Amino acid sequence: MHEFNLIQEYFTWDNPPSNISVAVGDDATVLDFPAGKQLVTSIDTLISGVHFPDNTPANAVGHKALAVNLSDLAAMGATPKWFTLALTLPEIDRDWLKGFSDGLKALADQHHCFLVGGDTTRGPLSISIQVMGLVDKGRALLRSGAKAGDKIYVTGTLGDAAVGLQSESDDFCKQRLNYPTPRLAESRVIKDYASACIDISDGFLQDLSHILKASTVGANLKLFSLPLSTSLKEMDQKIAMKHALSGGDDYELLFTIPEKKEKEFLTIIANKATCIGVINKSKEQITDESGNSLTSTGYNHFHD
Ligand code: ADP
Ligand code: MG
Repeated sequence: MHEFNLIQEYFTWDNPPSNISVAVGDDATVLDFPAGKQLVTSIDTLISGVHFPDNTPANAVGHKALAVNLSDLAAMGATPKWFTLALTLPEIDRDWLKGFSDGLKALADQHHCFLVGGDTTRGPLSISIQVMGLVDKGRALLRSGAKAGDKIYVTGTLGDAAVGLQSESDDFCKQRLNYPTPRLAESRVIKDYASACIDISDGFLQDLSHILKASTVGANLKLFSLPLSTSLKEMDQKIAMKHALSGGDDYELLFTIPEKKEKEFLTIIANKATCIGVINKSKEQITDESGNSLTSTGYNHFHD
């Protein structure tokens, strides 16, 4: 199969939206966007055996490669519009390509995000996606806006993907690892209320520490309020907490809400987010409800 045919068959999609002047098929892509908007862009690479286990189904790889990028746009309060795909393949395997492009397209369609170009090369399996989205000028949600007194919130549940990576038998956690849900619906609400936001990719404490550093504040957590799925609730609680605090690949949103906006925010977000603490003036310190200090890589008590 020639590279040109491969691109034609799997990565040239029908019905491009009208905001694309030139997409797959020319030397470069030409995109339109309205005045009053800013372009928000992010790129993430997934390497087989590093970012996903070698035996991950192709459909899940397609989903996840786009999902992790959409999650970055959700964290910025941006609306996804387009993406490009740089694909490195060890061989041309039609079954794999079909599964991959199906997984990719299903998620792209769900969020009206269109594939507008890319590059295809031969080598060890690796997928880079650059996603592009729009925000109203000056309204991108940053890591740097958290203030003392703001409440700390998180979407969904924490630690599921980390358990999915270790346990072949937990189907729920395996699904959370392979098919993360980018929190774009929640982001559309959060963007109008939050003072700071980040997506959790490297572990909750690690990513919280990025907000604290960027905002020069500290955090006091209610560890008993950390949202855990049934799978984690049924585990040894010490291990569950370790995964929830430090496990990677959650792709939930972690954000801060000023106290005076909290009541209205809660009426709209309902049960899609959980309050897990409050920002304070300390110098990037993280403490729990008993005043114990937590390091950004994990809960001290778990280092035995
Ligand atoms: P060039 O040699 O000019 O870089 P390519 O052969 O790399 O051209 O790409 C030809 C066209 O196909 C371009 O429009 C490019 O954006 C698109 N393309 C290449 N690979 C992919 C891919 N994996 N997914 C989507 N579009 C792709
Ligand atoms: Mg090229």
